[in-house]
Amino acid sequence: MQKFGGSSVADAESIKRVARRVLATKQQGHEVVVVISAMGDTTDELMDLALQVSPMPAPRELDMLLTSGERMSAALLAMAIGDLGATARSFTGSQAGVITTGTHGNARIIDITPGRIESALDEGDVVIVAGFQGVSQDTKDITTLGRGASDTTAVALAAALGAEFCEIYTDVDGVYTADPRIVPSARQIPEISYEEMLEMAACGAKILHLRCVEYARRETVPVHVRSSFSDKAGTWVKDLTDRQGPLMEQALISGVAHDRGEAKITITGVPDRIGEAARIFQTIAAQEVNIDMIVQNVSHVDTSRTDISFTLPKTDGREAVQALQAIQEEVGFEDLLYNDQIGKVSVIGVGMRSHPGVTARFFSALAEADVNIEMISTSEIRISVVVDAERVDAAVRAAHTAFGLDAESEAVVYAGTGR
Ligand code: ASP
Ligand code: MG
Repeated sequence: MQKFGGSSVADAESIKRVARRVLATKQQGHEVVVVISAMGDTTDELMDLALQVSPMPAPRELDMLLTSGERMSAALLAMAIGDLGATARSFTGSQAGVITTGTHGNARIIDITPGRIESALDEGDVVIVAGFQGVSQDTKDITTLGRGASDTTAVALAAALGAEFCEIYTDVDGVYTADPRIVPSARQIPEISYEEMLEMAACGAKILHLRCVEYARRETVPVHVRSSFSDKAGTWVKDLTDRQGPLMEQALISGVAHDRGEAKITITGVPDRIGEAARIFQTIAAQEVNIDMIVQNVSHVDTSRTDISFTLPKTDGREAVQALQAIQEEVGFEDLLYNDQIGKVSVIGVGMRSHPGVTARFFSALAEADVNIEMISTSEIRISVVVDAERVDAAVRAAHTAFGLDAESEAVVYAGTGR
């Protein structure tokens, strides 16, 4: 199972290069299934186009449009492989048996029925599947699985086909201790556990789609993230619970992730009564908005009122603000503040379980770099802070250095904009 991202198939030349690479694997005696993303920034361009014809495109039609990007690259790759003398067949997600829920734009895979893939493989063909898409079980409409979800298609198919592992080809050599576009001294990580990778993805590391990692962990599919521009070994994401060696030798922190995709809403002057927080978050939940960090202040003694702040995806900002404005009178809060000039910076590592000093070291590094912390949240293997958007880069670099992650040589970024 191999998956190639958009920057690996950005133009005709790159498609031919991928074709040669796929064929080389086939010639080593493997059956090959390839999952492919849309070429370069095609998905973004299709999205822009949709917004030009309609400010609020119908979700069903948007999915019809966006899935065409992956169909293009799948068909082109099949042609290129054919030209090299092998037989290849491309399939849409629906044809490949990717069955999903009906939520357009963010459907979930509920089943894979890979019959057509298996018979094509039996006939000796290279199979190419358009990533990021499926078909709704109920409506039979075409769905998409969320931005970046070709990774998820690949891992789901790998699991369904019983593949030994899943190779995800991208434009960097693997998973890094921080985004090499921000931290040139970031180090490539040779192997990382599913749980650390999950936290990294959830905290904004774009290298792997979050649901892909969830899927890989659940089905125990080892994932090899590597560059399509070199032959170097990449990063293995796998079960490391039996990792050998004493804990002391493990790095305290595996990586630093950042996320500029969130905004912060602050609701001021909330009456400190039982049930008000529930009321507020029910309203948000009814909009199907996922909130991330939440902070509630101690209420003022004289007014018995408090402030509540939380973060949410920027893309859900408008809806959430409107929904909250609608309940302002009923709840009786004073004001609603919306700030999308923030970023989240997280340090992640199972090593911190056994080391109490991680928070202190992280916060001191931020202070020395003159970064103000606006919000904090933690899990067993992660500490995240919200900072001003303009200070994100500085915060990432400071944390990276403070935890001794800097490498001597510079990381290589082969292509892509990282978006
Ligand atoms: N082409 C889709 C996107 O840009 C899916 C993917 O690349 O994984 O989000
Ligand atoms: Mg991607």
